[in-house]
Amino acid sequence: MTSLGLIESVRTTLVDLPLARPHRFRDTTMVTQTVLLVRVRTDDGVVGAGEGAVPGGPWWSGESVETMKLIVDHYLAPLVVGGELSRLPALRARMDRLVAANEFAKCALETALWDAWARILGVPLASLLGGRFRDTIPVTWAIGADDPDVVVEEALAKAESGHASIKLKMGAQPPDADVARLEKIAASLAPKTSVRVDLNGAWDLLTATRLLPRLQDAGVDLVEQPSPAHDVDALERLAALLRIPVMADESLRTDHDALVLAARRAADVFSLKIGKSGGLLAAQRIAAVAHAAGIPCHGGTGIESGLGTLAGAQLMCTLPAVTYGSELFGPLLMADDLLAEPLDYRDGLLHLPDGPGLGIDLDEDRIAHYARGP
Ligand code: MN
Repeated sequence: MTSLGLIESVRTTLVDLPLARPHRFRDTTMVTQTVLLVRVRTDDGVVGAGEGAVPGGPWWSGESVETMKLIVDHYLAPLVVGGELSRLPALRARMDRLVAANEFAKCALETALWDAWARILGVPLASLLGGRFRDTIPVTWAIGADDPDVVVEEALAKAESGHASIKLKMGAQPPDADVARLEKIAASLAPKTSVRVDLNGAWDLLTATRLLPRLQDAGVDLVEQPSPAHDVDALERLAALLRIPVMADESLRTDHDALVLAARRAADVFSLKIGKSGGLLAAQRIAAVAHAAGIPCHGGTGIESGLGTLAGAQLMCTLPAVTYGSELFGPLLMADDLLAEPLDYRDGLLHLPDGPGLGIDLDEDRIAHYARGP
């Protein structure tokens, strides 16, 4: 009989990974990416790994890698140690009953449980999640809120190498100056590749109503989260106003959010992320709502390393609703990774590995090298 996967221990490690270049968000610039590595060991000695990552600090959701570590060490780990991986959804429900919010922390631990369970069963995680719908997923290249010449040069090189779309961060400048910057960029890029922008909720409804049509006219073909997370009214009006799709990111965390956004047609595309939603099970439920509503999903990123990226990719490749590609480019932004071999990015696509669990093993030397000291 297959092992039930009795969980013996949970270990967490903060790992500071170097970036290939700085990544500029609305209010902060990321120069290294710290991730929380969570490892779960079973009584049979099987180890599963998961990752917690946020895009450069607690500005996105309130969580940071340090809060994740504390929540996992002190509150979530004791809930799963002694439990069985064969009862993963029950373990995951227990986390929600005893710890509110802290979705990124829960995702990191849940991913480690999935990886360990899939390794015990000897199957790739995608098989455990229902099987593959696709073998590869397109990867949008994302660029920070930088000057036009910097952005255009990098974007054209990435488009040339096969990335079918480019996503640009906005919101770091006053709105009018930011739009003028984007118009300059789009004039060079939009004829050659798909250009998308992410405002991370920077504009109120009035500003967005005034300026988004200019981005649309400049050739931008998707706008992500123009207005604050809580302002579903604004998203609904903007989705009705624009010909180009509006994608919900910060406004979409729970399956309940998905239901509200879908019922109000307040988003044309959903950005699906395992981290912000608390793991793969929750993301599956959101994708089911999207599927029912006929809303395409996009595989978003919190700029995870290869480990977290694989967790997202294993899920996204099982979901028919993910028809809008992904931005699973985190490992390409990093100068090094924790995996024994790099992910398979070719021609703008991420190819899913075939190995058991997440599909690629960790590199202990690299982990030791980048691990943050006590
Ligand atoms: Mn976003």
